[in-house]
Amino acid sequence: TIILGLESSCDETAAAIVTHDRQILAHSLAGQEDHHRAFGGVVPEIAARAHVELMTPLIESALDKAKMQLSDIDAFAATAGPGLIGGVMVGLVSAKALAMAMDKPLIAVNHLEGHALSPRLCDENLDYPYLLLLVSGGHCQLLRVNGVGDYNRLATTIDDAAGEAFDKSAKILGLGFPGGPLLEKAAAMGDAHAVPLPRPLKGAKEPHFSFAGLKSAVVRAHESGQYAVNDIAASFQTAVTDCLEDRLEYSLSHMDTLSKLPLTKLVVAGGVAANGAVRAMLERVAAKWNMQTVIPPLWLCTDNAAMIAWAGQERFAAGLIDGLDVAARPRWPLDANAPAARGAGVK
Ligand code: ATP
Ligand code: MG
Ligand code: FE
Repeated sequence: TIILGLESSCDETAAAIVTHDRQILAHSLAGQEDHHRAFGGVVPEIAARAHVELMTPLIESALDKAKMQLSDIDAFAATAGPGLIGGVMVGLVSAKALAMAMDKPLIAVNHLEGHALSPRLCDENLDYPYLLLLVSGGHCQLLRVNGVGDYNRLATTIDDAAGEAFDKSAKILGLGFPGGPLLEKAAAMGDAHAVPLPRPLKGAKEPHFSFAGLKSAVVRAHESGQYAVNDIAASFQTAVTDCLEDRLEYSLSHMDTLSKLPLTKLVVAGGVAANGAVRAMLERVAAKWNMQTVIPPLWLCTDNAAMIAWAGQERFAAGLIDGLDVAARPRWPLDANAPAARGAGVK
């Protein structure tokens, strides 16, 4: 089975062709940094328009790279949410049009399921169930991944997502956009012990995450004029990593109450998983708990269409096909028991 996947939920436009046996035949991606840099963040209207301009050339480029024609594609998958709705609709409508024109199945993919299953694309030995730390621009969750479409959320952030904290802190420090990778670069040149920053929820008797207080502390440290930007960046990155480690440790030591069956695999996904300090922390925690890790390559952690095509493959194999009337959804939690999971969508 050959699936073409499309991604357009934020500010990456992407198309990829992936086979059922994990061959990535093509992955084409265009960032929109230059469109949004002047605004210091992603502007939804500008993003949607850029997706419209970029999508068709990217699909053509993916087909070229794979030396294929549209008629070689067995099914079309696209992110159907969550994300910026104007952008999501560009990818979903494109996939609907292709599925209709070629008379092939359409698969509507939850972007978070794309991130959640991406470790299985790079590691064929990663079987269900596994424990997933999903750390992205909009989410910070600990999930038990039971199978396609079957997730239990064990913990979530009570305020900002981890990536959001990176992006906002980078902006405060004047490091530019996009913030996460630039903050990591600055941190490499700074002293992680130079600035005293809080560790929100450290030691709390619940598994959740919190980062808003850390961001406020970065504002105060910066405004005090006492510290070098690189030192604040390094101290911030260490604080985020410490918080993630502490919360993960809490969950692992309470696994018998959080998850019925013990989990032997610790997996990370989402853009913040591209961070070196976060990756090293995960290896450390896994070694301590005698768990195996799967940490996808950097390009597969941040937004891309290969993960959407792969989630499409998993859904297709499970017989999960969507109608052409499937709705784009700005909000769409992975855990079906979460309150917003039954929200209405936009067609
Ligand atoms: P979501 O997946 O929750 O809808 P998103 O798609 O915007 O949000 P991703 O593309 O998965 O998020 O990840 C982007 C986030 O990852 C941004 O917040 C970015 O700053 C962060 N990020 C990317 N690289 C790094 C890095 N090296 N260090 C820290 N953060 C990073
Ligand atoms: Mg992006
Ligand atoms: Fe994402």
